[in-house]
Amino acid sequence: MNFENTQQYAQQLDQQDPLRSYRDKFHFPKVNGKEVIYFTGNSLGLQPKNAKKYVDEIMTDWAELAVEGHFQAEKPWWDYHERFAEKLAPIVGAKPSEVTVMNTLTVNLHLLMVSFYRPTSKRYKIIMEEKAFPSDQYMVASQVRFHGFDPEEAIITVKKREGEHYFRTEDVLQVIEETGEECALVLMGGVNYYNGQVLDMETITKAGKGIGAFVGWDLAHAAGNVELKLHEWDVDFAAWCSYKYMNSGPGNASGCFVHEQYHGQKDIPRFEGWWGHSKERRFLMEPEFQPEPDANAWQVSNAPVLALAPYLASLELFEEVGMPALNEKRNKIVAYLEFILQEVAEEVGGHFEIITPKERGTQLSVFLHGQGKELFHYLMKNGVVTDWREPNVIRLAPAAFYCSFTDMYEFGRILRGYFSSETRT
Ligand SMILES: *Cc1c(COP(=O)(O)O)cnc(C)c1O
Repeated sequence: MNFENTQQYAQQLDQQDPLRSYRDKFHFPKVNGKEVIYFTGNSLGLQPKNAKKYVDEIMTDWAELAVEGHFQAEKPWWDYHERFAEKLAPIVGAKPSEVTVMNTLTVNLHLLMVSFYRPTSKRYKIIMEEKAFPSDQYMVASQVRFHGFDPEEAIITVKKREGEHYFRTEDVLQVIEETGEECALVLMGGVNYYNGQVLDMETITKAGKGIGAFVGWDLAHAAGNVELKLHEWDVDFAAWCSYKYMNSGPGNASGCFVHEQYHGQKDIPRFEGWWGHSKERRFLMEPEFQPEPDANAWQVSNAPVLALAPYLASLELFEEVGMPALNEKRNKIVAYLEFILQEVAEEVGGHFEIITPKERGTQLSVFLHGQGKELFHYLMKNGVVTDWREPNVIRLAPAAFYCSFTDMYEFGRILRGYFSSETRT
């Protein structure tokens, strides 16, 4: 595409954007009375305006119906979580029966590892990426120790090559092959939180399963961001939080995927609770657990409907728009942001470098040469919300739902201002 770094051109792209009206469906924070340029939808998505209505609905039902709300509310609470599967399935490329919503992300990964990390003295190793998101590192290390193994020995990390900022698929495959029959589980972030790289989940899943390991994905940065085909790729399990690209609100519920080949198994190792028990028989209070026939068998507690309400509100927007339209806008707006960054870098003499590889979703990670946190604070003061990752990276994720091409242009203008001699002494 031949982009132009002008306001007029950016406005023209906005006029042609089929999703332009969705910006109005979200609340934007303001700085100096002006809506911010929001680049942190990869950390906490903006609040959909209809979220409050969904929460209020439950507050009203609770006030007016109290316990009867479980069955008499317009959206009854006892199976409220089941409203998610149909809407989430196309987002992650699953059958509705393979998807459920519960708990939070790290908790769900722990629960899923009960089923999918079953080490033996010969097969006990876990392959993950180096410098994985800290929660994932803690989770995996504690699981390994729980089973009596040494994390130092049992956790095999795939590394970036010297001087490179991304993981090479061939290197992942080599580690998988080398670990071979000792590998119990491959568990990686589908989209890397630091550099924004989209891993080749299909190829890696195939290789992991080829050596007889289970393969799971942490999709925190992937769900609602990139194309996923979990069922078709034959992924064993996956989980994602919903507050990043899925705009469900801080710390909110996690989605889970369990491939249908594991459904209906009564003897699979699993930590169980009454919400995973057969729906028809749940209130018979029987002593023996009868698993739900689908991913809902992994449910534990009754659904936290107040938390789920904003997630449901957000999913209705996803359902309306669909991932293909979001992907199309995402590709275009990220390419435009990249173009603007390159223009500014050329003008100011290359103070920064994009470290995100071409396999990417919404996020561009920008490595700053010789700049510190100062730039991050300058942007914030000027109404640009980004985030900072040590040692020297600013992450920019222009969410397709609500960011505009004019935002990208404006950001470039502000960035240039920072590097221009007037503002810097
Ligand atoms: C955001 C994120 C988490 C957060 O986990 P919570 O349990 O929701 O706090 C975990 N893993 C990855 C890869 C993330 O990006």
